[in-house]
Amino acid sequence: MNDLSRSEPAGLLFIVSAPSGAGKTSLVKALVERDPGLALSVSCTTRPAREGEQDGVHYHFLDRERFEREIGEGAFLEHAEVFGNLYGTRAADVRRCLDAGQDVLLEIDWQGARQVREHFPEAIGLFVLPPSIEELERRLRGRGTDSDDVIARRMAQARDELAHFAEYSYLVVNDCFETALAALAAIVTAERQRLAYQRPRLATLLDPIESTI
Ligand code: 5GP
Repeated sequence: MNDLSRSEPAGLLFIVSAPSGAGKTSLVKALVERDPGLALSVSCTTRPAREGEQDGVHYHFLDRERFEREIGEGAFLEHAEVFGNLYGTRAADVRRCLDAGQDVLLEIDWQGARQVREHFPEAIGLFVLPPSIEELERRLRGRGTDSDDVIARRMAQARDELAHFAEYSYLVVNDCFETALAALAAIVTAERQRLAYQRPRLATLLDPIESTI
């Protein structure tokens, strides 16, 4: 028997990034709803809550002072400034889930993804793309909630996020929502069939096989 077969089953860490307007949040929401084995990490942010957002559900809403204190305490696995607000993932939350064998999904930007890979090089990166830049701009305008200035800033930020697609293992184009959702679910399923993931979970089946080899 080697080490893998003796180790406790640890969860997989998925990172999903996308430019604003690619539809990442809706896709991720649908993905975790249909997959009870996948826990969506609740990020911390200093941005004000939008209508309908609940503290502790969509984000942990912190003031900047508290956020910066937690940075100083080393509480964050990663943190980044996006659109002038701080966002971050608490390390303890992620560790607890992974150690319990739960798969975890982080919905974070490319800066955070880079930091996570430093601690978890095995993290699986998925990048959601819009079908075209024109469609992305149409979607950003379609929200109808932001001024031209804000849209221009979001487009610039979106291009910046898009420029990092090559740092991810999987690219999923969100042209048709259901197709993109099926692709994300298929990636999660495939990653769960890997030897390192299956071996500790299938010990009852595999140990007797190995002992006869
Ligand atoms: P929004 O404010 O629209 O919810 O999110 C804005 C951006 O912040 C998105 O690109 C989102 O992926 C990113 N984001 C959300 N949570 C985190 C986080 O915990 N860490 C990092 N690095 N980015 C995050």
